Amino acid sequence: MLEIRNLHATIDDQEILRGIDLKVSAGEVHAIMGPNGSGKSTLAKVLAGHPAYEVTEGEIIYEGKNLLEMDPDERAREGVFMAFQYPVEVPGVSNAQLLRLAYNEKRKHQGLEELDPLEFKELLAERAKLVDMDLSFMSRSVNEGFSGGEKKRNEILQMAVLEPKLAILDETDSGLDIDALRIVADGVNKLRRPDNAIILVTHYQRILNYIIPDYVHVLYRGRIVRSGGKELALELEEKGYDWIKSEAGVTA
Ligand code: ADP
Ligand code: MG
Ligand code: MG
Repeated sequence: MLEIRNLHATIDDQEILRGIDLKVSAGEVHAIMGPNGSGKSTLAKVLAGHPAYEVTEGEIIYEGKNLLEMDPDERAREGVFMAFQYPVEVPGVSNAQLLRLAYNEKRKHQGLEELDPLEFKELLAERAKLVDMDLSFMSRSVNEGFSGGEKKRNEILQMAVLEPKLAILDETDSGLDIDALRIVADGVNKLRRPDNAIILVTHYQRILNYIIPDYVHVLYRGRIVRSGGKELALELEEKGYDWIKSEAGVTA
């Protein structure tokens, strides 16, 4: 589904990603971990097509196509979904409006009829249950006045509505209390399928107790310095990141 080869990316002429290689197949969940500032959000944003980042080297192949040649809208239409670490507020646009727009955009792309507001309302009500979200959130402006946890839940609701092929979740666990974490993780687990893949960016091991990854990768200073199975996350939890830093320091 996704193959990243020797990816280098800069922001404001500063190199942040320094040669990333990663392969993700359908049905897999990959956790990207690493200390603050290692480039996790940068990698997520480059995948989503954020215009502030410049890819200076390498390639990203998504479903056999050059992802870097696709603009962010095109990526979204092709099933790439990104849940941001800091979800944006969209005053004046209701959650239901935005979701229906995005959902119908996808339907059109698939050659299907658009859903009218009533039909969509039913679908939305059903998906909202996945993340245990009250329907009152649907008529409110997108993320406006939402608590941190509600914003994260709303990101997973968007994912539940859009049913992406490739979902990139950037620290969806940060700022969640334990109940919200469980709800978010349950929502994500219900959306796991043999034909989709999830890249889960996280700083902490905690969420990986609920969303069991197939692979764990540690990003440090813009490179993946270690990959393993879910046990790698436990090892990190136990030893912290200093262990990785000193190892990477020796080989750098
Ligand atoms: P992470 O998500 O792993 O915490 P980020 O991808 O957010 O890390 O950031 C990686 C590095 O890029 C950090 O050192 C950060 O300071 C740097 N960075 C982010 N934005 C800019 C910018 N606009 N100019 C220069 N450096 C930046
Ligand atoms: Mg960070
Ligand atoms: Mg980040």
